[in-house]
Amino acid sequence: MKDLGIYIHIPFCKSKCFYCDFYSKPECTNSNIEEYIDTICMELLANSELLQERNITTVYFGGGTPSLIDAKYIAKILDIIRLFNNSIEEITIEANPESLNKEKLTAYLEAGVNRLSLGLQSANNNTLKKIGRIATKEMFEKAYMSAVEAGFSNISTDVIIGLPNETLEDFKNTVEYILSLDKIKHISAYSLEVHEGTKLDFLLNSGFLTLPDENTEREMKYMLDKMLEEKGFNRYEISNYAKPKYESKHNTAYWTQQEYLGLGAAAASFINSTRYTNIPDMDKYIQYMKQGISVKQDIEEMDLLDTMKEYIILRLRLKEGLNFNEFKLKFKKDVLDMYKEQIDKLVEEKLLEKDDVGIRLTYKGEDLANIVWQEFI
Ligand code: SF4
Repeated sequence: MKDLGIYIHIPFCKSKCFYCDFYSKPECTNSNIEEYIDTICMELLANSELLQERNITTVYFGGGTPSLIDAKYIAKILDIIRLFNNSIEEITIEANPESLNKEKLTAYLEAGVNRLSLGLQSANNNTLKKIGRIATKEMFEKAYMSAVEAGFSNISTDVIIGLPNETLEDFKNTVEYILSLDKIKHISAYSLEVHEGTKLDFLLNSGFLTLPDENTEREMKYMLDKMLEEKGFNRYEISNYAKPKYESKHNTAYWTQQEYLGLGAAAASFINSTRYTNIPDMDKYIQYMKQGISVKQDIEEMDLLDTMKEYIILRLRLKEGLNFNEFKLKFKKDVLDMYKEQIDKLVEEKLLEKDDVGIRLTYKGEDLANIVWQEFI
């Protein structure tokens, strides 16, 4: 039986962060939450056949801000998933500090959630204000303490590297702050991306904000790496660090090209070598599901070559890299026969390191990962 991860998209947010280009909705009323959750349950049951044929290993509530809605909705969805598997290894919920309290956190634990991903981005309140985050560092700390008191022992957080007007010192303070919280076992650290049309894009273009230069950003990454590794965090993926045994199982499944089913508006799926995304519009998602119209968009059936290329790139994101034998077992082909020229070139340029077991990115290769991906596309 193949393993399967389930992703559930809860698109509601209290307000829009300036840098965000995810599908999220600021309007969040009890009636539209109820209707949306019922529709997700409908979509879940519409996939009964698939769910019976798979071993559900992880569930991930992402958003949006899943913690904005009442915990009873999370429990309702999990109760249905448990009809198909009652021993799911990892159930994560993404949360923002402003929407958490001890009661809600206790209800999550009772519903079976065993991993909390609590958004921080920066421990500097001025920086948080500049990117439109509602929560302050103090609110984050309160939510963290409530989570620990409620009984969460597997907490992840995320930081953004290279935020507007941020200095190396600011960033160091953020990392030091995270390291002072001992129940944080996992950290995601992505570089800031400026998406066209966002408020951040406007504020930068009109000169209200500036970004740290490339060298400062590189130094931030280097510093982060050093500080986290010194405290026992292992960088198991380009942008993700974990204490031993606390790697995200759900995300690791993405990077090892396992199947996942996405439920809700804008959720992405990868099933039977086919990728698709649900319509990124909550109202249409509900309407189409009720009328029995497919909500799937951008359906892409991947052929063997596409699947192999994607597998190489995904595996190279992981610290352990691409294992030659695993590739052969999965595709019945030798990656060194197929990509000898590219691999030799990247090794020569010190972007990849190679031994008898496989290939993996060097530190320089992580920094210039796009150049590496290009060689395999
Ligand atoms: S909380 Fe997350 S999803 Fe919501 S607006 Fe902010 S970045 Fe976007």
